[in-house]
Amino acid sequence: MSTSFLLASYEIRSDVEICHCNLRDENALGFTEVNGDEQFVQVHNDLTKEEHVKTILHELVHVVQNEQGLIDDDERESQAYMLEGVLYNNYCASEQTVTTPLDSPLV
Ligand SMILES: [Zn+2]
Repeated sequence: MSTSFLLASYEIRSDVEICHCNLRDENALGFTEVNGDEQFVQVHNDLTKEEHVKTILHELVHVVQNEQGLIDDDERESQAYMLEGVLYNNYCASEQTVTTPLDSPLV
Protein backbone atom coordinates (compact mmCIF):
# COMPACT_ATOMS: atom_id res chain seq x y z
CA MET A 1 0.00 0.00 0.00
CA SER A 2 1.30 3.40 -0.90
CA THR A 3 1.52 5.90 1.92
CA SER A 4 2.39 8.80 -0.40
CA PHE A 5 -1.26 9.44 -1.20
CA LEU A 6 -2.04 9.42 2.51
CA LEU A 7 0.75 11.85 3.28
CA ALA A 8 -0.29 14.07 0.35
CA SER A 9 -3.68 14.57 2.03
CA TYR A 10 -2.02 16.59 4.77
CA GLU A 11 0.21 19.59 5.07
CA ILE A 12 2.97 18.11 7.15
CA ARG A 13 6.24 19.86 7.72
CA SER A 14 7.88 17.20 9.88
CA ASP A 15 9.69 14.15 8.66
CA VAL A 16 7.25 11.34 9.21
CA GLU A 17 8.27 7.76 9.52
CA ILE A 18 5.60 5.08 9.51
CA CYS A 19 6.45 1.76 11.04
CA HIS A 20 4.34 -1.36 11.09
CA CYS A 21 4.96 -3.33 14.20
CA ASN A 22 3.24 -5.53 16.72
CA LEU A 23 1.38 -3.29 19.15
CA ARG A 24 -0.68 -5.98 20.83
CA ASP A 25 1.02 -5.31 24.16
CA GLU A 26 0.33 -1.59 23.80
CA ASN A 27 -3.38 -2.27 23.47
CA ALA A 28 -3.58 0.24 20.62
CA LEU A 29 -3.97 0.17 16.86
CA GLY A 30 -1.50 2.95 16.44
CA PHE A 31 0.25 5.85 18.06
CA THR A 32 2.45 8.80 17.26
CA GLU A 33 5.61 9.98 18.95
CA VAL A 34 7.30 13.34 18.46
CA ASN A 35 11.07 13.43 18.34
CA GLY A 36 12.30 16.93 17.49
CA ASP A 37 11.43 17.64 13.84
CA GLU A 38 10.53 14.03 13.27
CA GLN A 39 7.37 12.19 14.07
CA PHE A 40 7.25 8.49 14.36
CA VAL A 41 3.96 6.74 13.63
CA GLN A 42 3.54 3.15 14.70
CA VAL A 43 0.73 1.06 13.30
CA HIS A 44 -0.20 -2.40 14.45
CA ASN A 45 0.85 -4.96 11.85
CA ASP A 46 -2.13 -7.28 12.09
CA LEU A 47 -5.05 -5.16 10.87
CA THR A 48 -7.51 -5.47 8.05
CA LYS A 49 -6.81 -3.17 5.13
CA GLU A 50 -9.60 -0.79 6.17
CA GLU A 51 -8.39 -0.60 9.78
CA HIS A 52 -4.83 -0.21 8.58
CA VAL A 53 -5.60 2.75 6.30
CA LYS A 54 -7.89 4.38 8.86
CA THR A 55 -5.30 3.99 11.60
CA ILE A 56 -2.62 5.67 9.50
CA LEU A 57 -5.03 8.45 8.56
CA HIS A 58 -5.97 8.88 12.20
CA GLU A 59 -2.37 9.02 13.39
CA LEU A 60 -1.43 11.50 10.65
CA VAL A 61 -4.13 13.83 11.97
CA HIS A 62 -2.28 13.69 15.29
CA VAL A 63 0.97 14.48 13.45
CA VAL A 64 -0.60 17.68 12.13
CA GLN A 65 -2.08 18.44 15.56
CA ASN A 66 1.35 17.98 17.13
CA GLU A 67 2.72 20.55 14.68
CA GLN A 68 -0.13 22.89 15.53
CA GLY A 69 0.36 22.41 19.25
CA LEU A 70 -3.16 21.12 19.83
CA ILE A 71 -2.98 19.33 23.15
CA ASP A 72 -6.61 18.95 24.22
CA ASP A 73 -7.22 15.18 24.10
CA ASP A 74 -10.95 15.34 23.48
CA GLU A 75 -10.49 17.77 20.63
CA ARG A 76 -7.61 15.76 19.19
CA GLU A 77 -9.58 12.53 19.16
CA SER A 78 -12.86 13.94 17.86
CA GLN A 79 -11.03 15.68 15.02
CA ALA A 80 -8.99 12.56 14.23
CA TYR A 81 -12.03 10.27 14.15
CA MET A 82 -13.95 12.70 11.98
CA LEU A 83 -11.10 13.16 9.51
CA GLU A 84 -10.17 9.49 9.27
CA GLY A 85 -13.67 8.80 7.92
CA VAL A 86 -13.57 11.63 5.39
CA LEU A 87 -10.05 10.82 4.25
CA TYR A 88 -10.77 7.12 4.07
CA ASN A 89 -13.56 7.82 1.60
CA ASN A 90 -11.15 9.89 -0.47
CA TYR A 91 -8.65 7.08 -0.30
CA CYS A 92 -11.19 4.53 -1.51
CA ALA A 93 -12.16 6.82 -4.37
CA SER A 94 -8.52 7.16 -5.34
CA GLU A 95 -8.12 3.39 -5.28
CA GLN A 96 -11.34 2.99 -7.24
CA THR A 97 -12.50 0.38 -4.77
CA VAL A 98 -15.76 2.23 -4.18
CA THR A 99 -18.47 0.84 -6.38
CA THR A 100 -21.22 3.25 -5.42
CA PRO A 101 -21.27 6.55 -7.30
CA LEU A 102 -19.73 9.42 -5.44
CA ASP A 103 -22.72 11.68 -5.72
CA SER A 104 -22.56 12.99 -2.19
CA PRO A 105 -20.00 15.74 -1.95
CA LEU A 106 -17.28 15.37 0.64
CA VAL A 107 -16.70 18.34 2.87
ZN1 LIG B 1 -6.14 9.18 18.36
